Amino acid sequence: MATRAIYVDPVGGAALYEGLPAATAVLITHGHGDHFDVPTLEAIAKDVPLLTNQDVFDKLPPALKANATPIANGAETTFAGLPLKAIPAHNVTADRMQYHPVGVGNGYLLTFGDKIVYVAGDTEPTPEMLALSGIAVAFLPMNLPYTMTVEQAAEAVNAFKPAIVYPYHYGDSDLDAFEAGVTADGVEVRRRDWYAKSA
Ligand SMILES: [Zn+2]
Repeated sequence: MATRAIYVDPVGGAALYEGLPAATAVLITHGHGDHFDVPTLEAIAKDVPLLTNQDVFDKLPPALKANATPIANGAETTFAGLPLKAIPAHNVTADRMQYHPVGVGNGYLLTFGDKIVYVAGDTEPTPEMLALSGIAVAFLPMNLPYTMTVEQAAEAVNAFKPAIVYPYHYGDSDLDAFEAGVTADGVEVRRRDWYAKSA
């Protein structure tokens, strides 16, 4: 079977993706510039299906829009041959609501065989996140003021208990504190250097 490479929120320009498998599909969570960048999409995702929220869909140039589909919070579809569900991604803390208002951004659940992968997008713990179960791999953001504190992220993980959690989009957050806060049985924290710079 051909390699499938689903990119989520690719930004940063084409050079970052040299040497990586070509995108076969792209998910976009919301319209902020560190998640949605038209030149990057034009370079690496010209002829592949895109799934995105309505706000980004409306901003796509025609050539990209021709391959794109908008999906609303809570909706389900099949994307790139995989069952997919859009999970609401938004702030819940009163003084952060302006960053990610309710009803705009998406996280995504992708089902690969019997494994469900959750890519949260920019969000705090929403009721929908906390109600998830059976997640094999979760990608969760933590960085203030835009998404979660490490404590919120750890609490969320302890609530929905993914088998594996990757902190991502964490900025300067204290990942040691996050890892220490994850106390639920059966959850493995995996760290990666998402911010590695090419030489
Ligand atoms: Zn954002």
